Amino acid sequence: MKLFDYVPATTPEAALAAFTPGSNTQFIAGGTNLIDLMKRGVTAPDKLVDINALPLKTVTHGNGRLAIGALVTNSEVADHKLVLQQQPLLAQALNAGASAQLRNMATMGGNMMQRTRCHYFYDTALPCNKREPGTGCGALEGFNRMHAIFGTSNQCIAVHPSDMCIALAALDATVLVTGPKGARTIPFVDFHRLPGDTPQVDNNLQPGELITAVEIPDGPFGTHVHYHKVRDRASYAFALVSVAAALHLEGKTIRGARLAMGGVAHKPWRLTEAEKALIGKTVSEATFRQAAEIAMRGAKGYPFNAFKLRLAPNTIVQSLKTAAGLA
Ligand SMILES: Cc1cc2nc3c(=O)[nH]c(=O)nc-3n(C[C@H](O)[C@H](O)[C@H](O)COP(=O)(O)OP(=O)(O)OC[C@H]3O[C@@H](n4cnc5c(N)ncnc54)[C@H](O)[C@@H]3O)c2cc1C
Ligand code: SF4
Repeated sequence: MKLFDYVPATTPEAALAAFTPGSNTQFIAGGTNLIDLMKRGVTAPDKLVDINALPLKTVTHGNGRLAIGALVTNSEVADHKLVLQQQPLLAQALNAGASAQLRNMATMGGNMMQRTRCHYFYDTALPCNKREPGTGCGALEGFNRMHAIFGTSNQCIAVHPSDMCIALAALDATVLVTGPKGARTIPFVDFHRLPGDTPQVDNNLQPGELITAVEIPDGPFGTHVHYHKVRDRASYAFALVSVAAALHLEGKTIRGARLAMGGVAHKPWRLTEAEKALIGKTVSEATFRQAAEIAMRGAKGYPFNAFKLRLAPNTIVQSLKTAAGLA
């Protein structure tokens, strides 16, 4: 084990001040991903800044948005009455993730920042451009059953593993961050990145920046929502494919739609064209099938994950049917 410094911080300012530019300083929240990565030698921080005592643990509603602190745990968010009232899709997605014990430790910020579950990334004996740029991608020609079908590059075909993030992408959330250059906001759909030529960079957070909160705007998506996760086991398994669906219905007419997919890309995959195709249509399986076909344009399978090319559209249809009350 490599020695590292441990610095507990009690304010965001102290956490930022503890960050040493040019070093591998990392914030630690619930530790459910970071400690695993350290134990396996995937990452070796010089310094851990413990942010658990920071006052970022509130859930509030006002001024047209729900605001959730970066250190609220996944289980607290999923059970919070404001979340259940205002954004039940988020609660459903959170409850589909990990296990009860993990959700009790995992935080909002940590969930966003969790790294891919690609087996090659976790095994330091195998090549992986994300872990060690330039070594190659073991999954490209290897066992790629869990991997992406959208937005891949010849450097990396990993997926982002979060369930929570799929709902946040669908709900037009915004990420609030603070850092050495001050505070800023990042639209959730722009927070995570596609792999391109820099698969080692998961997201657009800059070195030393701290996530402080997530905000979700109010909208007409509090009733007809469904998060559908297809996985190998009923619990404690990452998504093969997941879909966050939200519909704004007037009778049987679709006035608005929000759709995002998980388990298919390096970032939460928002289905904007499919959303547009739903507007003004009447809810029916045929309508949803048509939207799913649009959503699948540009998908590309690999030898072991080509099944996702059928599973994904079927999951979109199932999720929309359940959201609309047709299932
Ligand atoms: C066995 C297992 C099964 C799982 N299954 C699922 C699943 O099905 N679905 C799912 O979505 N997730 C799943 N997870 C992942 C789990 O949700 C994440 O490990 C968890 O959300 C990470 O949160 P944390 O607070 O523990 O982060 P930590 O492990 O503390 O940190 C993770 C990363 O986030 C950074 N970080 C943390 N907080 C901040 C902040 N405020 N600002 C900037 N950076 C920050 C850290 O520096 C670190 O790089 C699973 C995990 C395990 C171990
Ligand atoms: S898919 Fe990405 S994370 Fe997996 S081995 Fe290839 S480069 Fe590494």
